[in-house]
Amino acid sequence: MRDIEDSSARRRIGFCVAREKMKNAVRLQKTIHGREKFLFLGNEYELQIVKPQRPALKFDGAFTLGETAQKRGGGIHPLVREQALQIMTERVNHYSTLHGFAPRQVKVNSAKTRWGSCTSTGTVNFTWRLVMAPLEVIDYVVLHELAHLKIKNHSPRFWKLVESLCPEFKRHRKWLRGMGGLSL
Ligand SMILES: [Zn+2]
Repeated sequence: MRDIEDSSARRRIGFCVAREKMKNAVRLQKTIHGREKFLFLGNEYELQIVKPQRPALKFDGAFTLGETAQKRGGGIHPLVREQALQIMTERVNHYSTLHGFAPRQVKVNSAKTRWGSCTSTGTVNFTWRLVMAPLEVIDYVVLHELAHLKIKNHSPRFWKLVESLCPEFKRHRKWLRGMGGLSL
């Protein structure tokens, strides 16, 4: 635990913050001219409501969602959340193996004001909303949180570590701040 530099931060749970706070809760789905669109891994897709199907959400060039799932109320959010957990877990595992990080757990939450966080017990959290971002931006947030397993603050030393893991991180931060210039 020698690397924990900020003892006041250590006392808090969920001290880290991917600093790129969302200005507003970003919207996953929007309706344009009566058509449902949503953003997934940096691309905008059409969402067609179709007859009940299994799994309820499928992708084949466009996304289709079974109307039963749609009517249940949650729309695509619970399904996207499942996707998010899979994607985040895979990216965390990949980079942990590559760089020797040892997170204890990966969780996906519904945070509206932060993209990611890291707890003093080694859990890395991400908002499911991150699946809207391009993969390289997701990877930056993943690496940012993993870096907090070693340095639990936002000191220059921390940013140096982030830069060594993700040289393009400044560009990705910009995307997160502006949601890539997308009007959502
Ligand atoms: Zn941070």
